[in-house]
Amino acid sequence: MTLRSCPRGPWSVQGASLVIGVWPAMEIHRIAPLPAGLSELYNEIFDASGLHCRPQLAWIADAGGRLGFYAHGLVALGAKDMTDLATNVWTKYLTHLSVHDAYWAQLSGECVYTLSFEQVWWICVRLLLAHELGHARQAECGDGRHGIAAETDADDFAARIAQVLGWDASLDALVMHAIGCTSGTACGHPSPDGRVAVYRRAREAERRAQLTVAHWR
Ligand SMILES: [Zn+2]
Repeated sequence: MTLRSCPRGPWSVQGASLVIGVWPAMEIHRIAPLPAGLSELYNEIFDASGLHCRPQLAWIADAGGRLGFYAHGLVALGAKDMTDLATNVWTKYLTHLSVHDAYWAQLSGECVYTLSFEQVWWICVRLLLAHELGHARQAECGDGRHGIAAETDADDFAARIAQVLGWDASLDALVMHAIGCTSGTACGHPSPDGRVAVYRRAREAERRAQLTVAHWR
């Protein structure tokens, strides 16, 4: 297989601004300070992805509700978007128990996690980074998919990375559900249940693939 050259630009960092595209079709984002530990996490996810081209990571103040995006060799995540998403998962998807209630819930076989808001935030961030690397894979391979087909493929890729790195599938599924689109035919992304289904299917496929490799060695 011949690899294409790695996508790079057009984008540039000008002071505290990230400028994507060329005039007059430019998109300008404010760059925010990179949270401690983010580039190490990104490197770990990239290493597990098997990709040839390492996109530059950008942490922008606000991705305007898009959460993040991939563009021309660049993976960008929005700081505000990630806080909003983690808040959504924290408040709408998790039941918060007292230590006493958690003890009894555990005894009755319920799945109980001890999670801080910060941990939920990192779970959101890492899954979105893996998703954006799915778009990087599409660019690297010259994959012509776009729209919902491209988003589904990026979710599939994220789930395979999650399996390789052993991320908690139940928590990832909550995030996948939270980022699903509920606007019907106006959606550019799959529905909440659709995203969860793709995630679960891809993890299972990756798990079986890893088992097959182990068996034949
Ligand atoms: Zn996407």
